[in-house]
Amino acid sequence: MKSYVLDKLVKYHCFNCNSEFILSEYKIKKAGRITCPYCQSKGIQSYVCINDKDKLNKLGCIAMGHHEDPEEERTSYEMTWGRIEREREK
Ligand SMILES: [Zn+2]
Repeated sequence: MKSYVLDKLVKYHCFNCNSEFILSEYKIKKAGRITCPYCQSKGIQSYVCINDKDKLNKLGCIAMGHHEDPEEERTSYEMTWGRIEREREK
């Protein structure tokens, strides 16, 4: 799939529960507002970002990315999560 790009990763700290988590910068922008995934606090702060393409590639399947072409995004979703969704519904 030609339009697949790796997302920059951003590491956050939550001042409420003292946890850390990593998010895709692309998904952060789409969500608009984010909260801590552990305690749902808004008291979070980004403090590290990985934007180096070679380092992101080395993450392999741990890396996060998206398809810039919406049709490719739908096809990719169907090939992975769509099949799993149907299996879960059985
Ligand atoms: Zn938290």
